[in-house]
Amino acid sequence: MNPLLKIEGGSPAFPDGPPAWPVADDTIADSVNAAIASGQWGLYEGKLLEQTQAQLQSMWGLAHSQLCCSGTVAVELALRAAGVKAGDEVILAAYDFPGNFRAIEAIGARPVLVDVLAGRWTMDPQQVQAALSSETRAVLVSHLHGETADIESVVAIAKEAQIRVVEDVCQSPGATLNGRMLGTFGDVASLSFGGSKLLSAGRGGAVLCNDETMLQRARIFANRGNDAFPFSQIQAALLLPQLGQLEEYSRRRLLAVRKVATEVARSKWLHCLDHLSLHADVMPAFYKVPLLINEGAPFDRASFLAVVQQEGIMLAEGFRGFAKRSDRRCRKIGDLKHARLAAARTMLLHHPILLSSQSDIEKLTDTLGRAAAYLMR
Ligand SMILES: *Cc1c(COP(=O)(O)O)cnc(C)c1O
Repeated sequence: MNPLLKIEGGSPAFPDGPPAWPVADDTIADSVNAAIASGQWGLYEGKLLEQTQAQLQSMWGLAHSQLCCSGTVAVELALRAAGVKAGDEVILAAYDFPGNFRAIEAIGARPVLVDVLAGRWTMDPQQVQAALSSETRAVLVSHLHGETADIESVVAIAKEAQIRVVEDVCQSPGATLNGRMLGTFGDVASLSFGGSKLLSAGRGGAVLCNDETMLQRARIFANRGNDAFPFSQIQAALLLPQLGQLEEYSRRRLLAVRKVATEVARSKWLHCLDHLSLHADVMPAFYKVPLLINEGAPFDRASFLAVVQQEGIMLAEGFRGFAKRSDRRCRKIGDLKHARLAAARTMLLHHPILLSSQSDIEKLTDTLGRAAAYLMR
């Protein structure tokens, strides 16, 4: 079998490649032009930044925000806001964004790895209980790949243990659980406005919290007599119009994901999100749509990816996870079995195609189905 053959010969399903992101949009162009006309666009403080902060705080219903240069930095600032210091331990899932492990290390703190739930991408709260030690200062919870972490259980355990909860919502801005925004369950949240993200300022991030002391900790670290990790007015001009569009786009993406999940469910070898993540109480946000290759599948991930990518679809490997990291760098709870499986089997569909036309979504689901059939010949 040569995985580099087109599924049925001929031209790929998406000959022009994936749709552009961020979308070219008049409201964004108008906003940027107005910022340029104002002459204030290069500043690190000003009206547009104040407006952005006010709108983020109102969307999340939180009192304070600190804008910064990236989601990666936002995670580190959020950990610092939570009071994490050198020598502390921070619990995180063994399957997570690579920068999150490094953000903990950057502070001189020690990552403590817990498993994810079976067949899922978010942390197992029971393992958080087992991971607690006298050095534990915080738990870092990411809502990943359209899935909502069991944040209520984590928060309950953290309260009891008197540790802080940092919520990484870089992949899930606007997502809700029981009508409540993700990012408001923990003590402090991090957002990303990176180039590929659902809210994009080309680059950028934010920390959100309710506690003034926490905000001050992030501020003090970010301000070194100079704004060390700034977000500028031109970025705010890019971002502002997108805040108002987020909900509508999230709805459209959800409709597309339902179709993808339905198609994937037809193949016994592929698995998408389970019912929980697409449940009525949850409004997910899809930066990536996860597909898992089930155990015993008659094709491997590399072959499946090669076939689908040739069709012009942005499907790629998931995170590599941290289970193989040296014991010198982290403490591990249990065998991290499900995180290892997620690292080996996850494929991620990039979000821009989810806003495409009905017929493109059909082409997408059809291609996924045909790729699996093709590889099983
Ligand atoms: C993208 C991402 C980040 C970092 O954001 P950047 O703006 O790219 O630095 C952090 N956490 C998660 C879960 C992400 O997906």
